Amino acid sequence: MKRTTKVAIGAAWTVAFAAAVAATRRLSESGATDVPLSARADAAEEGGIDGDAFLTHLAEAIRLPTVAFEERERNDPQEILAVHEYLRSTYPLVHERCTVETINDLSLLITWGGTDRDADPLLLMAHMDVVPIEPGTEDGWDFEPFAGTVANGFLWGRGTIDDKGPLIAIMEATEHLMRAGFEPERTVIISFGHDEEIGGAQGAGLVADTLIERDIRPWLVIDEGGGVMDEFPPLTDRSVALVKTAEKGFIDVKLTATGEGGHSSVPPSESTIGALAVAIQQLETHQMPARVRILEPMFAALAPHVDPKMRPILTNLKFTGPIVERMNAGSPIANAGIRTTTAVTIVSGGVKSNVLPQEAFAIVNFRILPGDTIQDVLDHVRKVVGPDITIEPHGEMRVEPSLVSSTESDAWNVLATSIEESFPEAIVTPWTLTAATDSRYFAAFSGDVYGFAPFTGSDGEFARIHGTGERVRTSDAGRAVSFFCRLMRNAC
Ligand SMILES: [Zn+2]
Repeated sequence: MKRTTKVAIGAAWTVAFAAAVAATRRLSESGATDVPLSARADAAEEGGIDGDAFLTHLAEAIRLPTVAFEERERNDPQEILAVHEYLRSTYPLVHERCTVETINDLSLLITWGGTDRDADPLLLMAHMDVVPIEPGTEDGWDFEPFAGTVANGFLWGRGTIDDKGPLIAIMEATEHLMRAGFEPERTVIISFGHDEEIGGAQGAGLVADTLIERDIRPWLVIDEGGGVMDEFPPLTDRSVALVKTAEKGFIDVKLTATGEGGHSSVPPSESTIGALAVAIQQLETHQMPARVRILEPMFAALAPHVDPKMRPILTNLKFTGPIVERMNAGSPIANAGIRTTTAVTIVSGGVKSNVLPQEAFAIVNFRILPGDTIQDVLDHVRKVVGPDITIEPHGEMRVEPSLVSSTESDAWNVLATSIEESFPEAIVTPWTLTAATDSRYFAAFSGDVYGFAPFTGSDGEFARIHGTGERVRTSDAGRAVSFFCRLMRNAC
């Protein structure tokens, strides 16, 4: 998808939103926006933080290639155990003072007991596994993906942002606070999953079960799912700290058309493939309804910082909603932000050119916006495709959309303040993630669940996550650690 550069001011939010979700899409990159920003970074750091240590340790963690393949039998548990061992030798105070447990042998649950046993804990999350390098893309990396090279103002490697950067920052911050003599009132729990990239069910899913068994209900959960965008064109040229307050759900639906079959020399008026094609076409024409007002919290945060002429559009969605909806419909990324999306991903029918297939099927992937449910999707499909097509949920992965966490609670204020202290140039803004993270396992029994990684980037840089040339800016090293220090100090 190409990045739109010529946009009428009226379509501003479309582009802004597109920029916001660039983490999940590859947009074209401009070299100009890839220049590291070190402005005000020093002032944003807690005293005594060693950014170089963070970079050294992150580079060493990148060199432990914890790739998670979809086929679980391909994954070597020794790779994850090497991370355990690395953390043990690198962060001695954490391992001396905390209860460190393994869950299902490979995920880590670390508890730093607070002095106030009645206070619900702060939960810091990350994951140890990374996605593979897509075969054929190796040559696109300027530096070897598992070498942990520092060059040109960046630390390069698979997992630098997703998600070993946050993981190492959490460990550095915890060790730093212990060295500094900080004693939390509120208990701090750290959860590092080992299979997030393949669903998380064997890792964070079981960590969540463990907390439920112990009747532990985190007050604030912070996981991946956000970051600091350098700019938000053309709404604002200030940087924007996107904090995930919700994430979309997921279901695959199988559509099946059945018929008589027989010889192709005497075809019926409608074949199974023809009936299936009509059903697919109907689903693409009749989309799930848009709910533009889900953007209200994001627009409320941005409104004070945009061109005054834009403000009424952002702050009156009750009336401007239809215009915003039309605008967003023109961009797949923006459209995904305001509705449950419909994507036909597999179609199959027929084996021989002179045989009428008795069955044809398609798989349709829905990403469910908070406010809709899996049942709403099934009801919608039923209504749209009519009674002659069989529909059923397909595959094992079925995820309801998350609850939407508050932007007015004490937990939000603690998080927003910690971000502002570490990234004073950024506007803190809630948003909905179109992908799923491990934190969804904790949503049902926790207070507010948010996603934020303390790293800055252009839209092109965030598009490197799961892609080619993933990297973090070395100028972010100190304040990535500072952010987690401040969060623990402010929350605990
Ligand atoms: Zn991740």
